[in-house]
Amino acid sequence: MKEFNLNNIIRPNIQKLKGYSSARDEFKGEAEVYLDANENPFGTLNRYPDPQQIAIKKRLSEIKGVNENQIFIGNGSDEVIDLAFRIFCEPGKDKALTFSPSYGMYSVSAAINDVKLVELPLTSDFQINVEELNPYLKDEALKLIFICSPNNPTGNCFEGEAIQYILKEFKGIVIIDEAYIDFSTKESFINQLKNYQNLIISQTFSKAWGLAGVRVGVAYTNSDIIDLYNKVKPPYNISTLNQEAVLNKLDNLAQFEIEKNIILNEKEKLEKQLQEIELVKKIYPSEANFILIEVTNANKLYNSLVAQKIIIRNRNSLVNNCIRITVGSEKENKKLMTALKELS
Ligand code: PMP
Repeated sequence: MKEFNLNNIIRPNIQKLKGYSSARDEFKGEAEVYLDANENPFGTLNRYPDPQQIAIKKRLSEIKGVNENQIFIGNGSDEVIDLAFRIFCEPGKDKALTFSPSYGMYSVSAAINDVKLVELPLTSDFQINVEELNPYLKDEALKLIFICSPNNPTGNCFEGEAIQYILKEFKGIVIIDEAYIDFSTKESFINQLKNYQNLIISQTFSKAWGLAGVRVGVAYTNSDIIDLYNKVKPPYNISTLNQEAVLNKLDNLAQFEIEKNIILNEKEKLEKQLQEIELVKKIYPSEANFILIEVTNANKLYNSLVAQKIIIRNRNSLVNNCIRITVGSEKENKKLMTALKELS
């Protein structure tokens, strides 16, 4: 692929797709009598939700400084990831690429969609190995690259230069998964949207925004890619209750900042306290709300904590003898630290 051309990387059946449209779309909520959608006329949640989530997009547009037509709202960012496979990758033929270790849903979603996922190992300091990546960038079957930054489970951000290089050199779609960006000291790539036609930024209300139970994720990209997302999404993918929950959060940005700062403060405290624990061998620097820690024996520690009803993530299979700890409330973190001290 010589130049980036969106038409070259869309699955042929999606190119021809018209997409579902509701008879209600053209009225924009201004009609008086709704007899088009076989709803029950009684109750408060009897109507279908706004399929385009216009109120949320208006608020996000103001907050993020992008146009409303550059925003897609998904049922969690997991839906943003899954729909990307369905838009760009022909099952049994096309490929996607990510780095290892990284977020597990890239491979789950690839497998569900019958797409081969190339998993390139990160360097020993968890950065992208650009030299190893180079030959893959020229593979015409490669349609998608997932870059998780800050990366789950390692916690670091990737070097901006490496990401820019991939955006320039790769003629397919680059998805930067910024699920944890609100906790990071590094800048979001959202400001780069104007520079790259192949860039999708994925963010979520599940982490710093505190709405994991609500299932709302967001993709920011150009309006042509948004049109494709709108064609393939289920018509009513975000419920009325979930749209309201997001709007309430977006109306209280001060509370968002307060909670985020409490979590970051707790993270700092945890990092200091963990240094005192004998079974802790290494604490990896984190730009997220979790910490990757190397311990003497991850499997044993995991089982001991589970026995005390404390659940952490055993990442031993990804990074030798490593566990991943989410930064919790002060009370939860204290319980964890007490248990770790006793086990040391
Ligand atoms: N991306 C990353 C890197 C994640 O860690 C997670 C959740 N663990 C997600 C996406 C999925 O988030 P959501 O709840 O928005 O589907």
